[in-house]
Amino acid sequence: MSILVVGSVAFDDLKTPTKQAENVLGGAATYFALSASFFTDVNVVAVVGEDFTDKERQVFDERPVDLSGLETMKGKTFRWGGEYSSDLTQRKTLFTELGVFESFQPRIPDHFRKSSLVFLANIHPTLQLDVMKQVEQPRLTGADTMNYWIERTPEELASMLKSIDVLVINDEEARQLAGEHNLVKAASNIRSMGPSTLVIKRGEYGVLCFREKERFATVSFPLETVVDPTGAGDSFAGGFMGYLANREAQDDRVVRQAIIFGSVLGSFCVEDLGTERLQRLSRDEVYERYQEFKDLTDFASL
Ligand code: AMP
Repeated sequence: MSILVVGSVAFDDLKTPTKQAENVLGGAATYFALSASFFTDVNVVAVVGEDFTDKERQVFDERPVDLSGLETMKGKTFRWGGEYSSDLTQRKTLFTELGVFESFQPRIPDHFRKSSLVFLANIHPTLQLDVMKQVEQPRLTGADTMNYWIERTPEELASMLKSIDVLVINDEEARQLAGEHNLVKAASNIRSMGPSTLVIKRGEYGVLCFREKERFATVSFPLETVVDPTGAGDSFAGGFMGYLANREAQDDRVVRQAIIFGSVLGSFCVEDLGTERLQRLSRDEVYERYQEFKDLTDFASL
């Protein structure tokens, strides 16, 4: 089993109340790949500039992550800067420098086309659709998007939504996409646009999942120390989709388990700056926290 992810690989400047750093490895596809790699082989398709070095590649080398779809173009890698408020609830984007990401045209290498699962991280919906045309009947396809595409490319986004199974977005995006404040109504509205499974991320409040007859809600794992929320959503998506890649069945029970594994990866991600915590995370820790999650939310079997 393997999963293909297409999205950004970046250098981030991060400023949080307790830590800060410049030029650290980031990007949606990075967080996704590191998180999914605890469950399955991950194939990455992304673009970087000539400033991307072996030091960054080594982070992936320690995991079952195939970077043969990571294209190097003349120019600079995508750069993004973010700063958080003292209580970490607000984030200000300091700058976005597209660099080579501006001319990104995902080319899926032949040996990636049969990946069992596909995840289209947050890129232009036309590029997401283009990826769908290059892959061969994946078992499951998931996607993310953002307010920028909801506002500026609604028609392209509508076409993309028709071609995927799972949409993973945050609550603000769900409300905006549906034009509806109530999340339950917003969910049925969005599901009628295409994706049969909708996963709504609600930051520190947890996750909601809507499927045909199924609704599932979970909290986020309570942590004493939160350092940096960057990439939590992408890590959630990586854990969620990675776990699904590893399982034959995709029934409601397995999807619930996947949501908890996604939440586990998201919770580890925020414990340190950038990808630091994910880099030193072990499989045992992942499964331990999954068990703690079970105990935390169990109210029926005590
Ligand atoms: P998140 O915290 O889930 O929003 O993800 C943060 C990551 O997304 C950072 O590592 C950024 O490099 C990356 N990022 C920020 N803006 C964009 C964008 N417009 N397109 C793709 N990736 C982005």
